[in-house]
Amino acid sequence: AMARFPFVKPLETFDFGYQPSIDKKQVANLATCHFIEHGDNVIILGPPGVGKTHLAVSLGLKAIEAGYRVLFTSAANLIAQLTKAYAEGKLDDKLKVFTTPRLLIIDEIGYLPIDRQGANLFFQLISRRYERGPMILTSNQSFGAWGEVFGDRVIATAILDRLLHHAVTLNIRGNSYRLKEKLKAGLVR
Ligand code: ADP
Ligand code: MG
Repeated sequence: AMARFPFVKPLETFDFGYQPSIDKKQVANLATCHFIEHGDNVIILGPPGVGKTHLAVSLGLKAIEAGYRVLFTSAANLIAQLTKAYAEGKLDDKLKVFTTPRLLIIDEIGYLPIDRQGANLFFQLISRRYERGPMILTSNQSFGAWGEVFGDRVIATAILDRLLHHAVTLNIRGNSYRLKEKLKAGLVR
């Protein structure tokens, strides 16, 4: 209940057969939660519907089973909360909310544009968690496009520099699972 997942789907419900670009062994290794002990980040990239959020939730559930405190947030919600707290002079307290959980999952980086202040606040959080708090991040945008996502190439580079220092990246290339039933029914090709 604490984790605030958008849905609860265990890893066992993920159909790896549908998404051959995912290395099943790599995901099974992540499911052992060793990456949390090592302080590694996991970055899941891919177009909409390929299972990024599903995998992030599934790994979050494994972490909870292993006894870790986990917090799930969308990038938009995270930045909105930090922006509001900053305006109210409570940034430090809010940063603590996002640095205290052992595993922080930040979903959907890249769907909504981030303004300069948002990018700065996001960078502060990444800096605080750097080399201490592992994260799972998902994005529909490749790293090369993060300059546009954060509206500032310098901040995006600084964020990526820290995130990628100790990180595993899953690049999902494939069809949206949401289209699966439609493809099956021959409604789309
Ligand atoms: P993304 O976050 O990449 O846009 P989601 O993880 O939200 O995609 O997946 C869209 C929907 O399809 C969700 O209901 C998810 O559980 C389901 N889904 C996606 N990929 C798979 C898969 N390989 N096996 C089972 N369900 C999947
Ligand atoms: Mg998603």
